[in-house]
Amino acid sequence: MLSIQNFSVSIDDQSILKNISLEFASGQVHAIMGPNGSGKSTLAQSIMGNSAYDIMQGSLRFNGIELINLPAHQRAQKGIFLSFQQPPAIPGLRVFTLLKEMRQMNAKESFDLSAFMQEVKEYLDILSMDHWFLERSCNDGFSGGERKRFELLQLLVARPKVVILDEIDSGLDIDALKLVATVLQKVKSENPDLIILIITHYNRILEHIAPDCVHVLVNGEIVQSSDADLVHQLEKTGYADLL
Ligand code: ADP
Ligand code: MG
Repeated sequence: MLSIQNFSVSIDDQSILKNISLEFASGQVHAIMGPNGSGKSTLAQSIMGNSAYDIMQGSLRFNGIELINLPAHQRAQKGIFLSFQQPPAIPGLRVFTLLKEMRQMNAKESFDLSAFMQEVKEYLDILSMDHWFLERSCNDGFSGGERKRFELLQLLVARPKVVILDEIDSGLDIDALKLVATVLQKVKSENPDLIILIITHYNRILEHIAPDCVHVLVNGEIVQSSDADLVHQLEKTGYADLL
């Protein structure tokens, strides 16, 4: 269970998230929707521990353990994974090196390089990516679609317990969207307790991965939480009634 209690976040003394409380039970899929600028990425980055965001108050517990004072890499080690809306380019950092370091961080003694290489190649095949991709620098000159696939590749390697996807579906065609669903189903089938948090503007990704719960964030506050039917209602009415 991931539990956010009375969470308030500021950036440069400007209050962005106001007193948010949310609970995500093991094995559940939650969607977070809301207009641009409502604070969705701020919520995702704050859960992951990005130090650019100041947590003014609140608690973030995963399976009873308080994460709020842990840096991002320690949260990752506890199983939290965030796919970025806009992943940064890191020229000179090879894709394979990043993936290897990610795995070794959690499996120091038992790490087998050739088995890991084989595993990564299988993931590349699932993602319809050329094996040569491993030699490129992270996100350096990647197309929008390549960035999204690279986020999914990292997700497969990370084998997290909590997955947060920040607008992974924006700009994806229908085949790439199905790929997101395929990857999520694979990770979930290997870990039924997986918690999935999908931040999105669109219902189409939620047709492939049905959410147990949908939350609407407006101006840094959760204004509505409901079951999956809320997605269809929002599709018709937009957010205008909630502003
Ligand atoms: P969303 O993801 O819902 O579109 P964001 O969380 O990106 O919303 O942004 C929420 C608000 O916080 C916006 O007003 C945005 O301008 C502001 N904001 C987000 N990130 C930063 C930042 N790094 N510096 C200053 N303001 C920011
Ligand atoms: Mg955003």
